[in-house]
Amino acid sequence: MDKQLLKAAYSHEDFRENGHQLVDILAEHLNKTLNRTSSKVINWEVPGEEYKFWNNFLLHGKPSELNNEIIKRSIHLHHPHYMGHQISPVAPMTGLTSMLNAVLNNGMGVYEMGMAPTAMERVVVEQLCEEIGYNKKSNGFLTSGGTLANLTALLSARKKIASKDIWEKGNSHKMAIIVSEEAHYCIDRAARIMGLGEKGIVKIPVDKNFALNTELLEEVYKKTSNEGFEVIALVGSAPSTATGIYDNLDGMGNFALDKGLWFHIDAAHGGGAIYSSKYKSLLKGMHKADSIVMDGHKMMMMPSITTALLYKDGIDSHNTFRQKADYLLQESKEEDWYNLAKRTFECTKYMMSLHWFTLLKIYGKDLFDEFVTTLYDLAQKFGKILENDPCFELAVKPMSNILCFRFVEKDLDLPTLNKINSGIRQKLLEEGEFYIVQTKIKGTSYLRATIMNPFTTEEHFLDLLKKIKARGTLMIDK
Ligand SMILES: *Cc1c(COP(=O)(O)O)cnc(C)c1O
Repeated sequence: MDKQLLKAAYSHEDFRENGHQLVDILAEHLNKTLNRTSSKVINWEVPGEEYKFWNNFLLHGKPSELNNEIIKRSIHLHHPHYMGHQISPVAPMTGLTSMLNAVLNNGMGVYEMGMAPTAMERVVVEQLCEEIGYNKKSNGFLTSGGTLANLTALLSARKKIASKDIWEKGNSHKMAIIVSEEAHYCIDRAARIMGLGEKGIVKIPVDKNFALNTELLEEVYKKTSNEGFEVIALVGSAPSTATGIYDNLDGMGNFALDKGLWFHIDAAHGGGAIYSSKYKSLLKGMHKADSIVMDGHKMMMMPSITTALLYKDGIDSHNTFRQKADYLLQESKEEDWYNLAKRTFECTKYMMSLHWFTLLKIYGKDLFDEFVTTLYDLAQKFGKILENDPCFELAVKPMSNILCFRFVEKDLDLPTLNKINSGIRQKLLEEGEFYIVQTKIKGTSYLRATIMNPFTTEEHFLDLLKKIKARGTLMIDK
């Protein structure tokens, strides 16, 4: 065997040439999308046809066209008309850190398999903890996504709070977690994975502004306890995904402290607001949380998936997966902060800290302030436009960069309007000039926009609304 393929696959010259080409292609892609000379956000294709295309491409496609086809057939987050799901148009610099990560491929399972990223991770985490207002006891790590981070935090909660040692003895015990009915579905899923069952996830209704109704906390807590459940945690959303509304974290923090519950904040989306001098008050009371989740790939301009899980008391992060209760780490100064895999779900994980550290080093933390403040300001503007237009109705005044609104026409009933709004969203998707999503709240269908691109302007909002009105009017006439 002459190992031709291996030689080709590891050719540094091929890498250099293809790499330069790809960087040029991506730079041009950014130029076109950010400046909107490429007209579409998405070239919509139905799943079956997309599958056929790629099946055929594997056999007959030209290798030189592969990258261009991938870009053409992907949604363009850097387009100012992208106002859909809560994923960042990344700072292009993190495309380069992604490449560095991929080529070095330090797996971080043990310290020597990632010395630099392990130490950088500690620096980044300490910086985040300080920003939150945690003291020196705090600690944390980076992990693969908000979903996994929420599950990890709730496992830490169970380890610390539950009166039985579930980790050793198994689950023979009724436990509950209290959360808003608007919390992200992954909290419900985490509770079920932990064996709490449907009854173990207690959902508190939201108030008229879609925040967890804190007035109901006492009553729900009592009722749950009286039914024989040991309540272990209270979870706040910062903000909730559907409507973008922040819970009253300060009030919830006080309640949790009073009852001896673990207070967890799911700030996967809006934790980055801690960097915004204008909007950080939304996170008032954040430092009272025992654990906090923040996604780098949502409001912090990083690639998927890059998440911070932070603990008020760092020792709790060391205890989650520890085998024997008697060995629970106490206030020991011997904590091996550099063996991250003892604290995370992952064994191997990618070098996420490269993104955080590089952005901090090259641009500084004010970059996050500019990003979050710009997007939240834009959402306020969009909210005002919607409020002043009789063709539209806002579900709730925006608190973050998420807006839920619908096209309305006074003579039409709810089922008809639901159908029209769903129809508008489908039409927009297929046309591909704008990208927004939809959500259903208490039986009403809303269009949902998340302003993710700091280069979106008021003019783009007006163009979008004009388009929605035209589509909506057409559907009424039908
Ligand atoms: C996005 C989101 C999650 C899930 O995070 P992933 O990183 O997508 O796993 C959890 N909670 C909230 C509030 C979110 O917005």
